Amino acid sequence: MHPPTPGGPPPRVLAPYVRIGIQDGTLFLGFGSVQQSVRDRELWRPLVQLADHFREPRTRAEALEFLLGPCRVEVARAEAAMLMLEHGRCLIPASAYDPQDRYSRHALFYELSGVDARRVQRRLARAHVLLLGCGGIGNLVAVTLATAGVGALTLVDADHVELSNLTRQFLFTEADTGLPKSQVLARELRRRNPGCRIRTIVGAPTDSEALRALPEADLLLVSADSPGLTALVNAHCVDSGQAWLNACYVNDVAVWGPLVVPGSTGCWDCRPLTARAPADEPDLAAIIGRVNARYQAPSNGPVNMLASSLAALDVLRHLGGFGVPASLNRRRGVWSHELSIQEQPADRDPRCSTCAEVRPATPLHQGVL
Ligand SMILES: [Zn+2]
Repeated sequence: MHPPTPGGPPPRVLAPYVRIGIQDGTLFLGFGSVQQSVRDRELWRPLVQLADHFREPRTRAEALEFLLGPCRVEVARAEAAMLMLEHGRCLIPASAYDPQDRYSRHALFYELSGVDARRVQRRLARAHVLLLGCGGIGNLVAVTLATAGVGALTLVDADHVELSNLTRQFLFTEADTGLPKSQVLARELRRRNPGCRIRTIVGAPTDSEALRALPEADLLLVSADSPGLTALVNAHCVDSGQAWLNACYVNDVAVWGPLVVPGSTGCWDCRPLTARAPADEPDLAAIIGRVNARYQAPSNGPVNMLASSLAALDVLRHLGGFGVPASLNRRRGVWSHELSIQEQPADRDPRCSTCAEVRPATPLHQGVL
């Protein structure tokens, strides 16, 4: 093997997530969203030889030389095989994967998304997320972000742990009943990743002044369900330039979005996203208010997990800069009884009374860093 040319492309290796299989006359290289399907049998052997060759770090020139020389592959076919490996994101920098590193499996996920995993991890380490609500969704999003290497979390909740929480608030135990949720959650997160800086606030902001008193963050994740909170948070975040994301469930529908990035996306007020009482029939609105006042959510562990995981993945995408958040400019709901997805557009309305004055920011999420 020749030493790499100084200043030339660095050597790459076959990503450990690449597998090869043949099914129904088609060779599959890699699997998942970037898999390459090859029906041309003449390409099978060069592809397999090339993948095998890249088990050790190689430059592109070295690998082509190997195909053209010892393997006797013709030029066009060798180039086609190389492009398939490259387009299938099969090759990663030799230094991108250290199996002993705590974030190594996530690094593979970021590389599979076509971005520099080390850069994603550095971005996450610099990020601060504030969670409004430490219940079912707050539990699961917080533990996902802390263990993924998000540098700082602020946990905000006024509630204390109750026995009826334990069906979905999995980081709490019976022994925690009566203790503040934010503090118990912080204890559990520190056990899982001592590198994550965690601050707790026992309280629930209910007005603009209380929201302004919270520490500034790169993103607010809102899963608290107090009436009117989403509108208040939206106004606060648009005003202060902080991104925010709502995650919740509507009975048996797991809901997340829109991811609001002031200046770049629509906000909560750009489009009507939720049903409301009639403004022009106050007596009917009062009766509806009485009925709704007795509402108790049929909160369910798996539905909480569904909303939490989809929201947490979007938070990581946004903060880490890989992929495109699925809730950008839209609110999405997974109907758990039939596994269909409902989508509500939430793109920017230039006449929106809340965000029209915000200057457009740099476009987000171009797909790669
Ligand atoms: Zn708006």
